[in-house]
Amino acid sequence: MPVLVRGARQLLTMRGPRGPRRGEAMQDLGIVPDGAVLIRGGKIVSLGPSRRVENLSLARHAREIDATGRVVAPGFVDSHTHLVCGPARLVDYEMILAGATYREIAAVGGGILASVRAVREMPIRRLLLQAKKTLAGCVAHGTTTLEAKSGYGLDEKGERKALRAVQALQDDPIELIPTYLGAHAVPPEYAGRADDYIDWMCRSVMPKLKRRKLARFVDIYCDEDAFTIEQGRRYLSAAKDFGFGLKVHAEQFSRTGAAMLAVEMGAASADHLAHINDDDARALAASDTIATLLPGSVFHLGLDCYPPARKLIKAGAAVALATDYNPGTSPTYNMQMVLSLACSQMRMTPAEAFCAATINGAYALHCGDHTGSIETGKDADLVMFDVPDYREVPYHFGVNLVVMTMKRGVVLYGKGNVGWDEN
Ligand SMILES: [Zn+2]
Repeated sequence: MPVLVRGARQLLTMRGPRGPRRGEAMQDLGIVPDGAVLIRGGKIVSLGPSRRVENLSLARHAREIDATGRVVAPGFVDSHTHLVCGPARLVDYEMILAGATYREIAAVGGGILASVRAVREMPIRRLLLQAKKTLAGCVAHGTTTLEAKSGYGLDEKGERKALRAVQALQDDPIELIPTYLGAHAVPPEYAGRADDYIDWMCRSVMPKLKRRKLARFVDIYCDEDAFTIEQGRRYLSAAKDFGFGLKVHAEQFSRTGAAMLAVEMGAASADHLAHINDDDARALAASDTIATLLPGSVFHLGLDCYPPARKLIKAGAAVALATDYNPGTSPTYNMQMVLSLACSQMRMTPAEAFCAATINGAYALHCGDHTGSIETGKDADLVMFDVPDYREVPYHFGVNLVVMTMKRGVVLYGKGNVGWDEN
């Protein structure tokens, strides 16, 4: 049965030319006042002013969702998460609060390797249960597409287990994009032999992941206490040869040249970018690599080195926003809070933040052809907020304003009276 979402005070379509938005174009949300969206078979078949769309013959037989007085936008695309991650790291958290650095936490057995120990021990059904619970939270906060990285198994069994969990949850209930992040940290069995570990992943792990279709992207964490640029180049070249899309954790705690490496390798995105310089911003702007900013991790660690969003947007880079959901540095899956941080801490405008969290996030996952905007022919991935103006979403920081989340025309989350009766 067709579905008609009608009467939205503001319908944020994000419609525009193919490709991610840059510079001034990030301000243009393609807002339709009193807007409606007509959906059939999970796809958007028409959109525009309610008085026009509701008079289409298909709309007369449609189930109606009343959006009167509210904002309807494309569902959030969270393009950077460590979904399968094991339990909360509360010892780390208290150390952070007491002033410890990420390096000091790692030195006493916390940090990434603490999660690795936990994930290696967890049976897949527990990882699945945990991921499902997290996904339900993502949906309730308006996310309809989510990238999910491995990287807490590191050995073959652990990584396969994490990526199988992601595979099992594919499209249930939202779209998951799996990323192999074997190069997240050097596992204990390869301590002091990072080069050997890189070689083993390229030679032994990547071909299997490709054959079993367990990952679409391959990601590496390059930084002072992580992998070097040379190791990154070797690892990403191998991944590219296997046909994976590429992602790089770049310039999070120090500048090592990883953003330039991402551009050089034609990566889909370079993520974090807190420590980039002007040359990096210009190189990203001149490339197709999306600059994905993750202010949640800066906030949680209590740091003040937010990525220079204004510099990137001014240079013409395509900026995306994501949660970086993970147990060590950003334990949130609330994209609305990320929008608030982007506005208050990085001085993005509310319009730029919405653009970065939807259409540009979709392009960071090579999904821009079917999601990220409300346009004819795209998947009906929508979120409805209980406010009359989109600027109120970042404005009410920490508040969940979502009253409905829809994926491919199916309401996954509905609160209060949205005119939806499942009977
Ligand atoms: Zn990350």
